[in-house]
Order: sequence, then C-alpha cells, then structure tokens
Amino acid sequence: MEQDQLTESGETGVDVVIAGGGIMGCSAAFWLSRLSDRRLRICVVEQDPSHKQSSTALSVASIRQQFSKSINVKISRFGIEFIRNIQNQIGKLPGGNDLALRENGYLLLAGTNAGAQRLRQAHAMQQSLGAQTMLLEQNALKDRFPWLQVQDIALASFGQKDEGWFDNMGLLQMFRQAARQNGVAFLHDEIIGVRGSKGQVHDVKLAQNGALSVGTLINATGTNARTMLQYLGEEIPVEPRKRTVFQIDAPNAHFPDAPLMVCHTGFYLRPEGRHWLCATVPEDDCAADPHDFEPALHEFEDRIWPRLYARAPAFDAVKVLSAWAGHYAYNTLDQNAIVGRHPNWQNLYLMNGFSGHGLQQAPAVGRGIAELILFNRFVTLDLADLSVDRILEGRAFKEGHII
Ligand SMILES: Cc1cc2nc3c(=O)[nH]c(=O)nc-3n(C[C@H](O)[C@H](O)[C@H](O)COP(=O)(O)OP(=O)(O)OC[C@H]3O[C@@H](n4cnc5c(N)ncnc54)[C@H](O)[C@@H]3O)c2cc1C
Repeated sequence: MEQDQLTESGETGVDVVIAGGGIMGCSAAFWLSRLSDRRLRICVVEQDPSHKQSSTALSVASIRQQFSKSINVKISRFGIEFIRNIQNQIGKLPGGNDLALRENGYLLLAGTNAGAQRLRQAHAMQQSLGAQTMLLEQNALKDRFPWLQVQDIALASFGQKDEGWFDNMGLLQMFRQAARQNGVAFLHDEIIGVRGSKGQVHDVKLAQNGALSVGTLINATGTNARTMLQYLGEEIPVEPRKRTVFQIDAPNAHFPDAPLMVCHTGFYLRPEGRHWLCATVPEDDCAADPHDFEPALHEFEDRIWPRLYARAPAFDAVKVLSAWAGHYAYNTLDQNAIVGRHPNWQNLYLMNGFSGHGLQQAPAVGRGIAELILFNRFVTLDLADLSVDRILEGRAFKEGHII
C-alpha cells in the first residue's frame, strides 16, 4: 500500500497509524509488519520525508554499552547485535546492507572520586550483562591513549567492544525499505490534530488529506511528542534541547583509532573520517525554540576548544570545517525513554523522550512496541522500566550517563 494507493483509493482508516517517520517510527513499522506477517494495514505519517530537522538525521550516530541503568545496557546490546548482523536481521535490500559500523569504543573520563565511584558501579552492572567495559587508572589510560593528558583523571571507563558509530540514515532507509516491502504505507502529511473519547483514540487530522481513523496510534514524533499528546489533553515532560555539533580539522591529531571520548570537563569528541566531531552541553541548557536550528558557533571557542586542548595538546591547531544544530527530545523528568501504552488511552502507544540516545535504541524499542501491540506484553526485552505510568506518577527513573 503506497501513499498514492492510500490517498487515491480514498482510504480513511488503517489498523495502525505511526505518527512520525524518523528512526523510531520506521523501526516500529518494520517490526509490526514483520511480526504480524503483514496482516495489519499500517501507515506512517511523516511531515517532512527529507528529514532535514529530525533528530535522526542530525545525530552523531553512536552506540555504547556504558549506561547507568541496566535496561539501557540491554537495549544497546540488542542494538549492536542488530546493527552488526543487519543483513540477517532485515534481509538483503536493493541498496545493500552496509551500515559502516566502526567499533572504536567509548571512553568516559571522571575527574573526582565521586565520578570514579559512579563509573565503578556502572562498570560492575555493565559487565554482569556481558558488556566488555574496562576500567583504566591513570597509568593504564596513558599507556592506552598516550595523546591524552591524564594528571587530573580519577578513573576512566573504556568499552573495548560493541561501541562505536554507524550510518544513521542508512539504518533509517533500511527500516523504511523493509517496511515498504512488507506493505507499510508512507504518507507525506502533517498531523494537526488527534481526536478521541472515553479512552479511545478515533482519528488523526491531517493537513492535506482530511482525517484518518486509527485502530492504534503510535506517537513517534520526536521533539513534537508533547504537542501530539496535548491534542488529547495529555501532558508529557519532553522538550526540544538544542545541541550544536562541530566538524573540525586538526592536522596534528592523527589518532584514527580514537574512541568517542566523553570528558568530564564538558565536551565529547570522536573521529569522523580524517576529521573529528565534537559537541558540548550549552551553558544555559533549556527548552529550545522548535524552529531554531542555528548552530551556536561561539560554543567551540568558548567551551570546547580550551577543554579539548587541555586534554589533548595535539589539538593545538584546529579549524572548524562546519557545524550543525539538532534537537534532543529531552525528557526533563529523568532523561530516559518513555515507551509503552498510555494508561489513559487503550490504543495509544508512546516512543518518546530519548534524550540523546535514541538512535541506538531504535531496533530494540521498535521491536518492543510491536510486541506490546501484537501480544499485549514485551517478549524479547522487558521495557517496563520505561513505562508511561512512571511519568504520569512523577517517579523518576534517572539515567546518569547522559551525553
Ligand atoms: C546532535 C545530536 C546527536 C545525537 N547523537 C546520538 C548518538 O550518538 N547516539 C544515539 O543513539 N542517539 C543520538 N541522538 C539522539 C537520536 O538521534 C534520537 O534520539 C533519535 O533519532 C530519535 O528518533 P525519533 O524517531 O524519535 O525522532 P526524529 O528523528 O526527530 O523523528 C520524528 C519525526 O516525526 C516527524 N513529525 C513530528 N511531528 C509530526 C506531525 N505532527 N506530523 C507528521 N510528522 C511529524 C518529524 O518530522 C520527524 O521526522 C542525537 C541527537 C542529536 C540531536
């Protein structure tokens, strides 16, 4: 069922409407169509198929095992296996299945005893789940990464396997292509209203194509998740937070095997081909204007470069080649994903609030939401810790390792 078939045939209803065709919407579409053996009529509604402002397209596209909550480690373990075996997982696609995974690892640095203690606790939990994280004291850190200044480091945590980065848009295309092959329709339109009563969502109102009645609605609208829920009189603590990413050239820094380094002084850095990507958290981090995608260029000079040079003197000569700004869909309660059925609506499911780590979570969360809809329970991974109920009850389930 292609978009044209859907609109020209005058279809006014489908079994499942997925609002938003970013990585979450497309993963859900893929898994739902596969696990239901194509029995469901599924439609993904996306307002901008070019994805120029979606988090998926503007992501730094990295995957790690180093989280503080065990559910996030499990989700990423599922994610790395999925990405590594993409061809077996998704089937051979016409454009090929290479996601250009580079497993250089993540390196998390701590500068205080309290920070070191947090790394130790997380390390024990990560290892118990099969992650190959290792702790590095100052000397071991210097041996492994001689280009780093380590005098002020209390402890480092390094993921020597199953961590790195991959092709974000490649993964999106593969989910979309496979879902299409399974009969999912993709509609280019904007949802401008959602109607429901007595705990049942009835239809979504479209800017171009009238109304589409829904059996089930999935909210996968990224930074727009709150507006979607407000149509039904509901609230969710998710807001856009702007992050500027810089691509830099550093001719004296030749470390192609460098990991994605998260420095406690306030920036992260990873190789990107012959160059580097880096970013920081803005000093006045707060809700962004949803239309503001202007890179905050001052952040490089003011916040990143002094800290980067202090950590790695080879970054003495640096040129900013380009910069872009994207938005995190930031969960202000606990910076963790919000996944599951909405307790006030029988046929409304959320995949929201990924707070900067959603790309790597898409394979597992898409599968989880599909299982919940089809089998009324999580089968592969129990995602109950990420429930909508905790949000409505104000019960924070805080992820400590937010980058
Ligand atoms: C700078 C940056 C770096 C990041 N780095 C990483 C990383 O290294 N690793 C990682 O795992 N994650 C990372 N993330 C986070 C990750 O990119 C996101 O969590 C993930 O892409 C979220 O996917 P999504 O599908 O929920 O949202 P999106 O990709 O934003 O997709 C939502 C879609 O919904 C559509 N939509 C919204 N409203 C409507 C409407 N009313 N009608 C129709 N369509 C609508 C939008 O157009 C959009 O395409 C990063 C994010 C940013 C911004």
